[in-house]
Amino acid sequence: MPPTPTTPDSPPAAAVLPAYCDFTVFGGTGDLALRKLLPALYHRDREGQLPPDHRIVGVSRSPIDTAGYRDLVRTALATHVPAEELEPAAVERLLARLHHLELDAHVPDGWHELHGLLKDRPGADEAVRVYYLAVAPGLFGPTCERLDELGLVDERSRVVMEKPIGHDLASARAVNDAVGRVFAEHQVFRIDHYLGKESVQNLLVTRFANTFLEPLWNSRWVDHVQITVAETVGVGKRGPYYDHAGALRDMVQNHLLQLLCLVAMEPPTYVGRETVRDEKLKVLQALKPLTPADVDRDTVRGAYEGYGEEVGHPGTRTETFVALKAEVQNWRWAGVPFYLRTGKRLDHRASEIVVVFKEPPHAMFPQSEGSTTANRLHILVQPDEGMKLHLTAKEPGPGGIRLRPVSLDLSYATAFPQRSPDAYERLLMDVVRGNPTLFMRRDEVEAAWTWVEPILARWAQRSAELEERPEPYPAGSSGPTAAADLLGRDGRTWQEPDQ
Ligand code: NAP
Repeated sequence: MPPTPTTPDSPPAAAVLPAYCDFTVFGGTGDLALRKLLPALYHRDREGQLPPDHRIVGVSRSPIDTAGYRDLVRTALATHVPAEELEPAAVERLLARLHHLELDAHVPDGWHELHGLLKDRPGADEAVRVYYLAVAPGLFGPTCERLDELGLVDERSRVVMEKPIGHDLASARAVNDAVGRVFAEHQVFRIDHYLGKESVQNLLVTRFANTFLEPLWNSRWVDHVQITVAETVGVGKRGPYYDHAGALRDMVQNHLLQLLCLVAMEPPTYVGRETVRDEKLKVLQALKPLTPADVDRDTVRGAYEGYGEEVGHPGTRTETFVALKAEVQNWRWAGVPFYLRTGKRLDHRASEIVVVFKEPPHAMFPQSEGSTTANRLHILVQPDEGMKLHLTAKEPGPGGIRLRPVSLDLSYATAFPQRSPDAYERLLMDVVRGNPTLFMRRDEVEAAWTWVEPILARWAQRSAELEERPEPYPAGSSGPTAAADLLGRDGRTWQEPDQ
């Protein structure tokens, strides 16, 4: 057995549940809090992971008292937790932890109440205080500043930020600077919920806790990699934000590049709080910078028909679809294309990573129609989590050898019938325990923006000078035709689900 790591970087020492914890959610009445955070805390509490003294403080400008907030959360749990998982005693236990404070993060009034609530409790001197910023990013800096002024930030405090962290590199730096004036980097938890998904964590385990894949996981044996995050929904209520952001900022800069990092990264010496993030950063830094000519050739932007009307901005040039080709310039991956694709109102909902291996060097079997010899590993991230390995087999029967593709399927739901926790459950408990391994570090976020910015700049230039618009695609289709052409030019095709 290898020795257990004992360097200061390893998480176990700090990754214990604190006896006293106050979890303050700025934006406690919002969609994220009610749909994701409170149901996640309910599940962890039901599993006995929240010690009795943990409290949850919702903060918003809404004029509701704690009783009203408890009613709101009761309704949210009934809506967002499956009926068979709602246990009345567990619901009541969670509700009893809740408090609501009415305050405007822009205005100094009302903060003394938060101060009183957080300071006036047993164990206040040793309590871990988690501040979850489920509010617009413009409030991140001011909220942190006020917390600091009130003396509510100490070495045990943590702050959690949601995307978007900035609109570009400069604004991301400004947000990180503002939060960084109050919280040290090790106290800042930037959530990318994809990293909390079981299948995404299992990607690391599959790669590094088995021996059979690693020798093949490089440019010698991998032909290319595809990463797809396809949605059937449109922008819904997020129109104003989305029209300002677009798919590249909303999905590629964070989720898709994070998935790329996990596919491409080198094995860390051990899974420590910084080691995984160090390896991901190296991947981001190895992404080949795109020149304007590269952007013109290797990126596609599309918008579903009717998007402009849906967001009340018919002249919009915001993209709801992106496809692009990236390359990781290092010894392992040089020359291997990574094709990334994401879009809204597509014909299916799926998040999937496909590693396509090279054809065997010599075709010794007579080829037959429908045969294929390239192996593919599909890592299914959502809606169903699992893995499929596509192999070539002999079709049973006498006569000649006919080849047929077959797949080895690992469905998480079948292999592990117990309930699979939502990504937020895992991530929130990591925050409470102080384990940042699955969160984005500042340098990762900024390296991702550095790579994305030339694409944004070139698109903006083409929009301004050539009046270019994203290519329209019908809602419910597979996206703009240029996305198929991007791979077609390289003699490849997108792998669609069930292929
Ligand atoms: P939302 O539904 O609009 O909720 C915003 C929350 O912030 C409400 O509780 C609102 O309550 C509160 N708030 C607004 N201004 C405030 C102020 N000045 N002082 C104190 N509280 C204030 O938004 P959301 O969907 O929950 O999203 C919150 C943040 O998370 C956004 O930055 C979003 O981009 C990000 N995010 C959301 C999701 C998601 O699934 N929803 C996913 C990823 C990232 P009052 O209006 O009563 O004050």
